[in-house]
Amino acid sequence: MTDTTSTDRSFLHGHTDGGVWDKAGAPTGEDAWKPRALGQGVYALEVESGNPGGTIGMLIGDEGSVLIDNGLHKSSAVTLAATQELAGGPVDFLISTHLHADHVGCNAEYAAAGTRIVSHEDTRRALSVDDTFDQAGLPVFTFNDRATFHLNGQTLEIIPFANAHTVNDTIVHFVEANVIHAGDLFFNKIYPFVDLDNGGDIDGFIAAQRQIIEMANDDTVLIAGHGPIGNKAELAAAVDLLEAIKATMQPLIEQGMSMQEVVEANPLSIFEKFAWFHITTERMTKIVYYLLTEGKNRSS
Ligand SMILES: [Zn+2]
Repeated sequence: MTDTTSTDRSFLHGHTDGGVWDKAGAPTGEDAWKPRALGQGVYALEVESGNPGGTIGMLIGDEGSVLIDNGLHKSSAVTLAATQELAGGPVDFLISTHLHADHVGCNAEYAAAGTRIVSHEDTRRALSVDDTFDQAGLPVFTFNDRATFHLNGQTLEIIPFANAHTVNDTIVHFVEANVIHAGDLFFNKIYPFVDLDNGGDIDGFIAAQRQIIEMANDDTVLIAGHGPIGNKAELAAAVDLLEAIKATMQPLIEQGMSMQEVVEANPLSIFEKFAWFHITTERMTKIVYYLLTEGKNRSS
């Protein structure tokens, strides 16, 4: 077994409390969303300024509205205002893609406004024992396999993936609009995060991404949980990046280098342009080192 020389595992910790983001410091300014119409009543709300959370998806129309994720708790007023303006009133349904606080941070506020919250059973189970999560925002409807919304003439296929970015990650495929909200199974043009502490797995992450690529065509709009709205080629590039990072790290691990030695050698410096405030190159190095060594067969 390779010696990782340190028992500090803080680099692994997910952003379930939302606070990691602010401590990391990068985003400044007022939190704001920028809505983008994607056709057939489908919208994405991208980060316009500050750090309101992961990218939001929406379906609006005469029969009702569906929201996908809702950002960090600190931005709840901004997020409620932006989504209710689009919906023309309270939002009817909310799909929570996964358990992270930058995606479910306003669940309680939406529940209080009458929104019905939907998630995978595993996501609800994790949230129900998370003491940083306001239990008033727990999903009221759960699924264990695929589920489908039929609303406003649109078909929304809800597709879960086990043990990928977290214990369960759900994507939403807007069939007629040819849009996929990939949640955090897609970090576009930035290092991805695999949350081992919450059931994530690097091979499961890559396998899920490959399945999403299979579902998409060249015209599909792919909403990334973090990073700009992308397409099939950009998701394929994200898979290639993770494979390239693994291939760069593996020989050093096989040589018996410790985590600290690999960090000092900085083999991922060639990928520095993908660093961002949540995942620096050093943190990415530590996470992948751990994933390829003692974390390799760890999934829940
Ligand atoms: Zn996440």
